[in-house]
Amino acid sequence: MSPVEPIAEFDLIIVGAGIIGCSAAKAFGSSGRKVLLLERDLSEPDRIVGELLQPGGINALKELGLEDCVEGIDGIPCYGYGVLYNNDVVHIPYPIDEITKKKAVGKSFHHGRFISNLRKAASATENVTVKELTVTSLIRSKEEEEAPEKVVGVITLDKSNQELKFYAPLTIVCDGIFSKFRKELTVKTPDVRSNFVGKHDTRVLVDVPGKLPSASNGDLKQYMKDTVAPNLPDSIRPKFLKALETERLRSMPNGFLPPSLNDVEGMIVLGDAMNIRHPLTGGGMTVAFNDVVLLKELLSPENIPSFTDASLILEQMSTFHWKRKKYCTAINVLAMALYRIFAADNNQDLSVLLRGCFAYFQLGGERVDGPVGLLSGLIQQPMILVYHFFSVAFYSIYIEFKRKGWSNAHYNFIMIFTVLYTASVTILPYLWSETKY
Ligand SMILES: Cc1cc2nc3c(=O)[nH]c(=O)nc-3n(C[C@H](O)[C@H](O)[C@H](O)COP(=O)(O)OP(=O)(O)OC[C@H]3O[C@@H](n4cnc5c(N)ncnc54)[C@H](O)[C@@H]3O)c2cc1C
Repeated sequence: MSPVEPIAEFDLIIVGAGIIGCSAAKAFGSSGRKVLLLERDLSEPDRIVGELLQPGGINALKELGLEDCVEGIDGIPCYGYGVLYNNDVVHIPYPIDEITKKKAVGKSFHHGRFISNLRKAASATENVTVKELTVTSLIRSKEEEEAPEKVVGVITLDKSNQELKFYAPLTIVCDGIFSKFRKELTVKTPDVRSNFVGKHDTRVLVDVPGKLPSASNGDLKQYMKDTVAPNLPDSIRPKFLKALETERLRSMPNGFLPPSLNDVEGMIVLGDAMNIRHPLTGGGMTVAFNDVVLLKELLSPENIPSFTDASLILEQMSTFHWKRKKYCTAINVLAMALYRIFAADNNQDLSVLLRGCFAYFQLGGERVDGPVGLLSGLIQQPMILVYHFFSVAFYSIYIEFKRKGWSNAHYNFIMIFTVLYTASVTILPYLWSETKY
């Protein structure tokens, strides 16, 4: 039998109907592209991820015409953060949203219900076909011997293990944190330093550094009782201990994956498959929706009349890589730096920064508006991050002078050096990995 020429029925194949997949299907379907959205399991997800959408993410959702998806899912408005440290508490409210000129509001909801709404919105979009299939591999082809390999489609399996192939000039891979296809773009893998362990209803996500104790032999529950519960505020501890007896503990790895330049013809990798930050601040979906807004513009029919023009797409992807830093650098760096500082544990130098950072937030005003504006995706100017970063470092030194006394010259000299050094190694590796391309 002679090989059959592949016929591209679609302009775009999207692998994974999660946060990116659904919003990208809606964005490109609405622009007139024929989109095939493939998802291995279309039932409502039950995961302990993606439950707080920042105001900057809500704005992006509106730009994509998907704002209704946060409605009707028992979501509650979120006005900012409360941080408890020892017996003190500091409120970190969202600032004024420059777009609406009102106090910014985020939304907190059940992730699975939100995804179901996004999937409904994608299915209802003209030009979008949704299928429940597991993508097992990408199809590559070469036009000539010397030419680079190009992704031209995907191979899938249905529930009865039947193989089906689909072809399109462009495939967006957004198969999430445990991505199978990330390796087609980069050798980088997520650097996992801790796990979040979660419980239901009033969601408690507990960061467990290092190797996760076994849940099956009861070690994890014991860890929660012995190590975590004693450190919780009195108001939370009784419910926490009660829930330990009645609720199932689930865990997710918290990784860091710096972004990669999309330079493979015929394929774009997005979302957690391409770039991950610690979920401490809840920024992943905000980055994802902003990425889709930017990509929709860069790959619009005016800029790219046909997705068969692979070299033009690669040029736009280079622009995408640099333009997205405007919003994602601050979210990524703050998530990782705040995680390192808040998880200072017994590290003396980081503890100095932790005390300084907490005291800095207690000053309120611009000291809070700036950092929270950055991590919520409202302020898209990374230089403001650098300003606050050094302000925290110097304020930490000032607080430590007050604690230990001004005349302790020897101590003070070592402390200034260690705080500035630690502050730099906390943030600079992330800034570096964000800009190394
Ligand atoms: C513990 C934790 C808490 C978090 N909390 C928040 C938060 O509060 N706020 C926030 O903004 N972000 C949060 N995040 C991050 C957020 O969840 C992610 O950034 C976001 O879900 C990434 O979207 P995505 O589209 O890349 O992946 P996903 O939303 O995970 O979608 C991937 C999809 O691909 C499908 N898929 C995978 N493989 C295949 C295949 N081979 N074939 C077909 N389909 C496939 C999957 O079934 C899934 O539906 C959290 C992350 C973690 C780990």
